[in-house]
Amino acid sequence: MLNTVVKDLKFPELPYSFDALEPCIDAQTMELHYTKHHRGYYDKFMAAIKGTDLEKMSFGVLLNQISKASAAVRNNAGGFVNHDMFWKTMGKSKTTSESQASADLTQAINSSFGSLDKFKVEFGEAAATRFGSGWAWLVVDASGKLKITSSPNQDNPLMDVAEVKGMPILGLDVWEHAYYLKYQNRRPEYIKNWFNVVNWEEVAKNFKNVKW
Ligand code: MN
Repeated sequence: MLNTVVKDLKFPELPYSFDALEPCIDAQTMELHYTKHHRGYYDKFMAAIKGTDLEKMSFGVLLNQISKASAAVRNNAGGFVNHDMFWKTMGKSKTTSESQASADLTQAINSSFGSLDKFKVEFGEAAATRFGSGWAWLVVDASGKLKITSSPNQDNPLMDVAEVKGMPILGLDVWEHAYYLKYQNRRPEYIKNWFNVVNWEEVAKNFKNVKW
C-alpha cells in the first residue's frame, strides 16, 4: 500500500465478519468502527487530496512528508492507513496463537524485551498511558531493532512527525471509539483482551517484509 499512488488507494475489505473477534471486540463496535470511522477517514482523505499535487505522490512518500500537509490530510491519511493495519493484525483463533509468530520474530521480541510476556506488559503500558486518543505500536526501526512507541491522534511511526520512527508491524487503536461500547472507561481491560485476537501470523509476515 505504501508504494501505491495516493489517488489509486482503495478502501480495503474487512478480512473477517463483524462478529469474528467476539467476545474481545463486540460486533457493534467493529461494524461502527469499520463502516463509519474507517470509511470516514478514507472518504475525507480522498476529498482532501482531490485536485492537489498530492494525488500523484506515492502514499509512503506522503506519510514521510506529512508535516508539510494540512491537518485534514494528516489526520485522515493516518486514520485510513492505521485502521487498515489494525484489521489485518487481528484475526480468528487459528491465527492468534502465539506459536504462529515466526522463530525470527520470537527471537527479536525476546532480544528486545526479554520475553513475549514482558513485551505485552511494556506494549500494554504504552497503550494504557497514551493520553487521550492515539495508538500504540510495535515498530522495526532503521537499524532493524524492535521498539515500542505510541502516537497521538491518527499519527503513526511512518510519519516524519513521529517521536519514534519505524515500520509498524503491530498497532493498537486506543481511541475510545475502539472500545467504549463494551469497556466504557476500562481501557486496560480492552488492551488485555485485545492480545487474545492479535494475528501473530500476520505480525510475523509484516516483520519478514520490512525493507528499508
Ligand atoms: Mn479507530
